Amino acid sequence: MGLGAIRRTALVTGAAGFVGSHLVDRLLAEGFEVVGLDNLMTGDLSNLENARRDPHFHFEIGDVREPLGVYAELIFNFACPASPIHYQHDPYATLTTSVLGAQRVVEMARGRPCTVIHASTSEVYGDPLVHPQPESYWGNVNPIGDRSCYDEGKRCAETLLHDAHRRWGLDARIIRIFNTYGPRMALDDGRVISNFAVQALRGAPLTIYGDGSQSRSFCYIDDLVEGIYRIATRAAFSGPINLGNPGEFTILELAKRVLSLTKSESQLVNRPAPSDDPRHRQPDITRARELLNFSPKISLTEGLQLTIADFRSRIVILREQQIANAKQGQSDNPAEVVARRTDDPSQELSLALTAMTAEAAACGHAHRTGDHMAAAQSFIRFVDKVTRLAPALEVAFGKGDPASNTMSQLVALIEQLCSAQQAQDTIRIADLLEYEMQPLLQGLCDIVAT
Ligand code: UDP
Repeated sequence: MGLGAIRRTALVTGAAGFVGSHLVDRLLAEGFEVVGLDNLMTGDLSNLENARRDPHFHFEIGDVREPLGVYAELIFNFACPASPIHYQHDPYATLTTSVLGAQRVVEMARGRPCTVIHASTSEVYGDPLVHPQPESYWGNVNPIGDRSCYDEGKRCAETLLHDAHRRWGLDARIIRIFNTYGPRMALDDGRVISNFAVQALRGAPLTIYGDGSQSRSFCYIDDLVEGIYRIATRAAFSGPINLGNPGEFTILELAKRVLSLTKSESQLVNRPAPSDDPRHRQPDITRARELLNFSPKISLTEGLQLTIADFRSRIVILREQQIANAKQGQSDNPAEVVARRTDDPSQELSLALTAMTAEAAACGHAHRTGDHMAAAQSFIRFVDKVTRLAPALEVAFGKGDPASNTMSQLVALIEQLCSAQQAQDTIRIADLLEYEMQPLLQGLCDIVAT
């Protein structure tokens, strides 16, 4: 790349993610040539729908832990799972993505004119003992807890980038991003705003972890992107910088606000607090104000309205897809029947299996029709989701259950799928998905329903 005589080139790692994709849109609007990199583990190509129509956007499926061969004057390093359920799902991948990813970026940027803008996080403060948190606070982090893969990974990446700055003069700009929300957050990413919005819109109970007195400060995506852009385009500076909206709310306050904005009659239910859940978090943004004149503009109510509108339309589209599937003969799918019975304890499993069955079909179709981009994306997501589902199935059926035979077949099929993927045998993948995986998942739906 590097067509930089007229347009400056920016590389965005994690381009298909929630923050990465908004950043891509902003950079394109500002006249950059943008290269987006993503391994699509948690990112979603639909986030890049607008960008992919722009001739100045170039997308590559790839992993930031591998050597990178892109010439860019600006590197935005945003690749890493960021929601607690995603980053805890594969802690090894999370930690290595942070640390090796930062190492790759340093290798790429050192010794030439290049600015690195690195997405760090308020999680580096852990469960903070200082409130609000200024950049000078060193944090209170458990090195071996459930969240450590993310917290310590991001802390180590900061160390690596800062050392590269000290030693080789690398222009590394570290941003500590506090809780951010907005359109394009994955409906199932498990974060509090996405969970509450989806639950309220679907009439399901809002899950309050703990007693709901813990607090967070929520920044709307456009405000965050504005801050990132200002950091990227100002003169070099040293040391990390907080970005976020200092308005602080308890989780209970947030739940009530979501209920009122969605006009939902959902109940609130308490669930156990996750381990090492920080009690309070609020950014001290004095530094960002002084250096960048940064000041978030969008209030929580305004931002939630925009976010809820986006979630509402995506939920409607999903629903329409489900209805279309039903019209194609899936209306009597036992899992869907079970799913309608809200008091059924296996509802969640049934829903997951129904979704998986549909996804096997979609993924098979993408492979068969040669839509490489969609095929690669749905394959990674499918295998990831089925792998996550396997332990839930084991718990539901127990080892001696007749269903265990079906589960062994499921595991064997995943292995065959992975071999076919390695061999890039798309026809075999489509066959496995459509003729073997789909009936198998449907069979499991039947077992759950009985
Ligand atoms: N939380 C909650 N219900 C949910 C999801 C999250 O009460 O359905 C709480 C969670 O325990 C935490 C806060 O909301 O105290 C923010 O969680 P999130 O996962 O959004 O981000 P975090 O700031 O913990 O990284």
